[in-house]
Amino acid sequence: MSSINSFNVAADARIDLHAHTNRSDGTDSPAELVTNAHAAGLNWVAITDHDTTSGWAEAEHTARQLGIGLVPGIEVTTRGSRIREDGTVKGFSVHMLALLPDPNNQALAEALAISVAMRLERLKIITDRLSEDYDVVWEDVLEQISNGKTAGRPAIADAMVAKGIFEERTPFFGLVRPGTKYYEPTRGVPSTLEAIALIRGAGGVPILAHPMARGTGPGLGQPMPTNEFTELIHAGLGGFEIHHRDVDSHVADWLYKLSFEHGLIVTGSSDYHGDGKVNRLGENLTQPAMFERVLEQGVGTTVVAPA
Ligand code: AMP
Ligand code: FE
Ligand code: FE
Ligand code: ZN
Repeated sequence: MSSINSFNVAADARIDLHAHTNRSDGTDSPAELVTNAHAAGLNWVAITDHDTTSGWAEAEHTARQLGIGLVPGIEVTTRGSRIREDGTVKGFSVHMLALLPDPNNQALAEALAISVAMRLERLKIITDRLSEDYDVVWEDVLEQISNGKTAGRPAIADAMVAKGIFEERTPFFGLVRPGTKYYEPTRGVPSTLEAIALIRGAGGVPILAHPMARGTGPGLGQPMPTNEFTELIHAGLGGFEIHHRDVDSHVADWLYKLSFEHGLIVTGSSDYHGDGKVNRLGENLTQPAMFERVLEQGVGTTVVAPA
């Protein structure tokens, strides 16, 4: 079967399928991201800003100039939920990569526009709570948010760094995380299952980003959430981003087995954010054979092929 992106990927291609720019919470412009990816020796890089496609055109332009492959994508914010033993519902944030979706698909574009607007309201709530204890106000945060940018907690972190309250972003994330008095979740985003349907509906490939990252899943030897994950798979999930610095090795082992059983795609990537995080381009890669499957399934938009 051939699709609009059918492409023979070189066996030694270096492929990184998750990176951010200053259109969300990275620090490189889209042109800088692509230039840095080329300099890092990558043959393919994906631009996957949070809930926006606003960096695609600039990234595509630079990719054509440099002859590097570019995969347009999005990191979609979704809401997962689980019923606790006492019957109450626990909500949590789940990130879903959408590779090669149609940016003009109305249902997807509308959902993303709502997410971006709701993110702003939520940042204001968090900032107002911080204002009671720290010398930071909403205007300071707005200064960090330029036009067309998806704002998240890093914008508040940067405002507090600019005011000299913190030296870098990291201590901020210790202060404002789920369970603390300052934290507020993003509301109004699609559920994880809805997001899978939206992404498939737009011709994109939904890949679960950094599954159960940084110890948010079961510990070593604990039962894994098999039912939850099979539900995602039956809803059309395309694969898992297993090779990522925040995925623990026992979780990776379990995900590998699950991927094999269900014939899913496995990806690897840096989740580069420029100077905003320590993650370096190319620190984790996607196997060419797996990438070819992404290209087969991704029919919402076309890649920029490497020269
Ligand atoms: P939010 O979308 O507001 O929940 O913020 C989450 C974003 O903050 C993620 O996409 C990460 O890029 C970033 N982030 C999370 N933890 C850290 C950290 N420790 N240092 C820097 N950035 C972080
Ligand atoms: Fe981010
Ligand atoms: Fe993420
Ligand atoms: Zn990311």
